[in-house]
Amino acid sequence: MIELTELVAGVRAGDRTMLGRAITLLESTRPSDRVAAGELLAACLPQSGQAHRVGITGPPGVGKSTFIDALGTQLTAAGQRVAVLAVDPSSSVTGGSILGDKTRMERLSVDPNAFIRPSPSSGNLGGVGRATRETMIVLEAAGYDVVLVETVGVGQSETVVAEMVDFFLVLALPGAGDELQGIKKGIIEIADLIAINKSDASPGKANHSVRDYTAALRLLSPQSEHWNPPVLSCSALTSDGLPELWQQVELHRRKLQDAGALEPKRAGQQVRWMWSMIDARLQDRLRTTPSVMEQVDSAEAAVRAGTVPASVAADQLLDAFAESLRRES
Ligand code: GDP
Repeated sequence: MIELTELVAGVRAGDRTMLGRAITLLESTRPSDRVAAGELLAACLPQSGQAHRVGITGPPGVGKSTFIDALGTQLTAAGQRVAVLAVDPSSSVTGGSILGDKTRMERLSVDPNAFIRPSPSSGNLGGVGRATRETMIVLEAAGYDVVLVETVGVGQSETVVAEMVDFFLVLALPGAGDELQGIKKGIIEIADLIAINKSDASPGKANHSVRDYTAALRLLSPQSEHWNPPVLSCSALTSDGLPELWQQVELHRRKLQDAGALEPKRAGQQVRWMWSMIDARLQDRLRTTPSVMEQVDSAEAAVRAGTVPASVAADQLLDAFAESLRRES
């Protein structure tokens, strides 16, 4: 077992092997590893926070990996160090992951200034995205300038990612007519930018979609008083539109910084995350407490049969949990 000080020094020096080991430690759910992971994070926190954190989502086939490959290469060519992470709540079910797969990003995967980490296949401890958030801290301590967090729209994953980044980018496909193609309605509301990809294949349709999404966004009240989310078209295949797109991402950061709004945004995210971790861990502890488990079946049956109100059954289970905590202390 490698010493923590060595691991931290390796991470700070940007050693890829050490970085890989540190992330594996963060992904572990073993209690002893969690203690070491906590120490690692505490050691990395002072050097974290400087990266530009950008979330990217879109339906399967929209071009996310092609886009990240092209954008990431553009950024490393400009001297930036780029990390790619993923949040994939489906991977715990399927056992594998399609996100953050190196083979999907041909140029970036061999780029010495890029680091790609597939999404961990489990890690519900503390909720979806815990390992990704913690990995971000370690990558920042290792000096990465941009962290791209990819997600596919499964469950609440987009909201989870939007809550851990400075900028949330939504990729959509060009579509004819006024129907918004392949994108969940709630997602438009949290987008900082919508990019219509594959403009090379159908420029007319792409322009049409830009107008449609712009109109749709106008109907929403803006999320931030400092930013009106733009709609652009681009081609991940030819890189057309990508420089202009990144200019918008940087403009957003400058505007938030100038308004003193970036730090409060991040601070709010951390506090909300703390509470969501408490919720997840409390549930986990409650559901694995023997005296609670003994009562769960009868409580559920009574609620199902309508003989006990749900609120009364909830109180009974919570009381059993509180009692077991009292006995422990
Ligand atoms: P993902 O599932 O969202 O990661 O999508 P991929 O990046 O794997 O892309 C799906 C398919 O669309 C691949 O065959 C890509 O080559 C293609 N593709 C991605 N971006 C573009 C683009 O800008 N233009 C065109 N014509 N094809 C693209």
